[in-house]
Amino acid sequence: MSNITGITRGGVEYTPEFIMTLDQTKCIGCGRCFKTCPRDVFDLVDRDDLDLGDASDDDDWDDGDGFSDDTSMVMSLKDPMDCIGCQACIKVCPKACMTHQPQPR
Ligand code: SF4
Ligand code: SF4
Repeated sequence: MSNITGITRGGVEYTPEFIMTLDQTKCIGCGRCFKTCPRDVFDLVDRDDLDLGDASDDDDWDDGDGFSDDTSMVMSLKDPMDCIGCQACIKVCPKACMTHQPQPR
């Protein structure tokens, strides 16, 4: 079985890898993925509603780069089926929270 592929502007075929999981126990709610994603995949939700513990126990989450340090929120997958497989989200995530896979046709 072949996977979904795309074509670059230059005519080169590539294989998108689509978001499969987001580990909310690692997420610090920084919002980088939300701001980077070109689609409507992510949504910030209240950590207290999910019983995930406190991500602020992690000592390297605050790197002073201007993104939110409010760990009361955590990212969720609102509509993973809207993903186009660009993988921009995992490139900006400081905690490597997501996994991606090619999608069989
Ligand atoms: S792979 Fe791209 S489209 Fe899919 S969730 Fe990540 S940033 Fe959004
Ligand atoms: S970039 Fe990573 S740590 Fe930041 S909100 Fe998204 S999933 Fe959570």
